[in-house]
Amino acid sequence: MSKKIIGALAAVCSIFGCSNPEVSQYPQDTIIAKDGTKIVLTFYNHASIAIEAAGRHIYFDPVDATKEIDWKNEPKADLILITHDHYDHFSDSVNRILNGTGEFKQMKPGESFTPFEGVQVEAVPAYNISEGHLDFHPKERGDAGYILTIGGTRIYVAGDTEDNEDVLAIRDIDVAFLPVNQPYTMTVEQCARVIASIRPTIFYPYHYAGGDPEMKTDLDALKAAVEGLTEIRIRPLE
Ligand code: ZN
Ligand code: ZN
Repeated sequence: MSKKIIGALAAVCSIFGCSNPEVSQYPQDTIIAKDGTKIVLTFYNHASIAIEAAGRHIYFDPVDATKEIDWKNEPKADLILITHDHYDHFSDSVNRILNGTGEFKQMKPGESFTPFEGVQVEAVPAYNISEGHLDFHPKERGDAGYILTIGGTRIYVAGDTEDNEDVLAIRDIDVAFLPVNQPYTMTVEQCARVIASIRPTIFYPYHYAGGDPEMKTDLDALKAAVEGLTEIRIRPLE
């Protein structure tokens, strides 16, 4: 569907009200899984992304953290996965818009399940290790990152974490979403260490800081730090 048609549909929907369309109006990438399954990644803002495969829409931490999103006109959620309950990751009202019930799944590290045939979800640990930052995401709280396996392709959505030993031990990742902002998650150097250890084919920095020049994530430094290790893709995930 062309952007024009989607735009026109969105306009009609805002006047008359529609059930959610099948196609997102936000930036997307398509990747092909190892078994040929088409996987569509949608980028909303900050830590809010979606993964669609075989007609199933899986949302991660859908919120309006850094900009307002037109959630009403986005595809309905088949599954909402939450990494932890900070305001930039969890919104009851957005969850309700996406699935009508507000239902979501927040798994504990070590848990796994198969929501749909051909899709496997595994929760992995996400926590801080730097002095002075430990209270943001304490290990004992059990915040999660997720690894999705679709058609033999493994996608890692890290949640809010630093380069702890559990993260550095993750292997066989094709696509990785890693958080890079201060003081809550990783520095550029920490993130580069994770990339060097995991070696994902494709790397999307997410949960990065824009705006305030003092706090802004240095994406050029990040690009230079991971050069030759992965294919870095910058999308609007500040
Ligand atoms: Zn957090
Ligand atoms: Zn966060």
